[in-house]
Amino acid sequence: MKNKSIWMNSNIKNEKMSKLDKDINCDVLIIGGGMAGLSTAYNLMNSDKKVVLIERDICGMGATSKNTGKLTWMQDLIYSRLSKNYNSDIAKLYYDSQLDAIKKVKEIITKNKIDCHLVKTKSYVFSYTGDDYNSFSDEVNFYNKYNIKYKLLDRLPIKYPCKYALMGDDSYVFNPYEYLVGLKNIVSKKIDIYENTRCISVDKDNDMYVSKVNDGYKIRSKFVVVACHYPMFIVPFFIPFKTRVDRFFIGAAKFDKELSSQMISTGKRSISIRGYKDIDNYLIYGRRNHSITTNLDIRDDYRELSGEYKKYFGKDLEYFYHTHDLMTYDGLPFIGKIDNNLFISTGFNKWGNTNGTISGMVISDIINNKDNKYIGLFNPKRGLSIDKIKNIFIYNIEVGSRYILNKISSNKSYYGDDVRIEYVNGKKCGIYKDIKGIEHIVSNICPHMKCNLVFNYIDKTWDCPCHASRFDIDGNIIYGPSVYDIKINKE
Ligand SMILES: Cc1cc2nc3c(=O)[nH]c(=O)nc-3n(C[C@H](O)[C@H](O)[C@H](O)COP(=O)(O)OP(=O)(O)OC[C@H]3O[C@@H](n4cnc5c(N)ncnc54)[C@H](O)[C@@H]3O)c2cc1C
Repeated sequence: MKNKSIWMNSNIKNEKMSKLDKDINCDVLIIGGGMAGLSTAYNLMNSDKKVVLIERDICGMGATSKNTGKLTWMQDLIYSRLSKNYNSDIAKLYYDSQLDAIKKVKEIITKNKIDCHLVKTKSYVFSYTGDDYNSFSDEVNFYNKYNIKYKLLDRLPIKYPCKYALMGDDSYVFNPYEYLVGLKNIVSKKIDIYENTRCISVDKDNDMYVSKVNDGYKIRSKFVVVACHYPMFIVPFFIPFKTRVDRFFIGAAKFDKELSSQMISTGKRSISIRGYKDIDNYLIYGRRNHSITTNLDIRDDYRELSGEYKKYFGKDLEYFYHTHDLMTYDGLPFIGKIDNNLFISTGFNKWGNTNGTISGMVISDIINNKDNKYIGLFNPKRGLSIDKIKNIFIYNIEVGSRYILNKISSNKSYYGDDVRIEYVNGKKCGIYKDIKGIEHIVSNICPHMKCNLVFNYIDKTWDCPCHASRFDIDGNIIYGPSVYDIKINKE
C-alpha cells in the first residue's frame, strides 16, 4: 500500500526552483504555490507589476495535490445552505462563480496545452441516509428557480448506498498535481518563483509590507497575497477562530471498469467517489471521518476506510492518504483584503480547485484596479449575523475542548513502546523510537498556538489536533500554519 497521493504517481517532472538568497523588492508577493497562489500568479503574470511567488516546499505539493481532482459546481447542498444563510441570489452568485472558475481552468488547459487528464463527467450529489429530505428539496427548488438542469434519481452509476441523488452536467475531473505543475511551468517564464523558502512573518512598514523568510531574508512589497492554505499569522483577522479544520481520508485501487462520473454525498461523512483513468482504471474513494479535533489515532481511520472500500468495491487499497481543508462558518470562502494591501485566500470548504481559481481572478482584479462581481461575495470582512457568531462560537468550543483535553491527557492512550511523551530538560517532548532503535526527540508543543502534538502512526509524523500543523519525526515542519520547526536543543 502506498502512503501517498495517487496524483504523485504521475511521471511529470516538477523542476525545483532556487531558494531566496538575498533581500528583494517587488510589487506583489504571493506566498504559496498551490491552486490559489499559482492561479493568482497566472492572472498577474502579464500585468505591469513585478510579481514574486515564494513556496515553502516545491510548488504543487500542498493540499491541492492530495485532493480528489473534481471541478464541479455540485458541492453537497451548498445552494440550500447559502440560501438559508443569506438568500437565493447570493447562492446564485456563488453558483456563477463556480461555473466561471471551471471555464477558466478549461481555458488555461486548452490555451497552454496542459496535459492533466481533464475529463467531462456527470456530477452527483447523493444522500445515503435519506434523512435530509428537506434540505434536498430546498436544493431542488434552487435548481428550479434558476433553471439549472438536473435529474432526480434513486441510484448512482456505481453500487453504493443511495436513497436519492441529484445529477447535473458541466463538471469535470482532472489530475490537480499535473495541472499545478503545468501552471508553474507557464508562470515561471514570467515571474520569479523561489522554492524551499518559507515565509515566517508579514509586517507592515508604512504603506509597504516586509515579509521575512526562514533564512532571514526580507521581501519588501506593496501587495502581499497570502495563499498558503492556512495563513501563518493569527493577527490580523484571527483565522484560527473563524475557521475549522476538517480532515479527510482517501483511498484508491485499480477498478475493473472506467467510471466517468463524480459523486459527493450529503451528511457528516461527506463520501466522495470518482474514477480515474491513467494506464489502468482507478476508483478513488474519500470520506470525512471526524473533525480533526475528535479523532486522533489515524490507524482507526485507515481501518475504517479500507474496510469500507473492501465492502463496497471488493478491493484492497493500493493508496491511502489524507488531507484537510479549512471550513468557514457560512459556506463561503475568505478571498480578498484583510488590511490595506494584504490579501488572504483560504476557507475553501473542500472546493479549492474552483475557489482557488476564482480567488486568483478576484485578487488579481483588485490589484489591477478592475471590478469583479465576486469581490463582495467572498469579502473576508463580510458582516456577521447572530447565527454566524453562534457557528464561530461552536467551532471554538470544539477546538478549545480538544486543546484542554489534550493538555491533560497528552493523547497517550494509544501510544505503544515506540512512542513516548516525556519531559526532557524540563520541556515536554515526544519521543519516537524507529525500527533501528534510534530515538527521535522533538518538542511536543506546536509553535502555532501551543497545542500538544499527537503521533501519526501511518505517516510517522507529529500532527497538531487543533489547527493541523505537521512535523516529521526529526521536528522539521512539513505543514503549516506553524512556520517553525519543533527541534529541541540537544545540549
Ligand atoms: C479530501 C479532500 C478532497 C478535496 N477534493 C477537492 C476536489 O475534488 N475539488 C476541489 O475543488 N477541492 C477539493 N478539495 C479542497 C482543496 O484541496 C483545497 O481547498 C485546495 O487544495 C487549497 O488550495 P491552496 O492553494 O489554498 O492550498 P495548497 O495547495 O496547500 O497550497 C498552499 C501552498 O503554500 C505553501 N506554504 C504553506 N505555508 C507557507 C509559508 N509559510 N511560506 C511559503 N509557502 C507556504 C504550501 O507548501 C503549499 O504549496 C478537497 C479537500 C480535501 C480535504
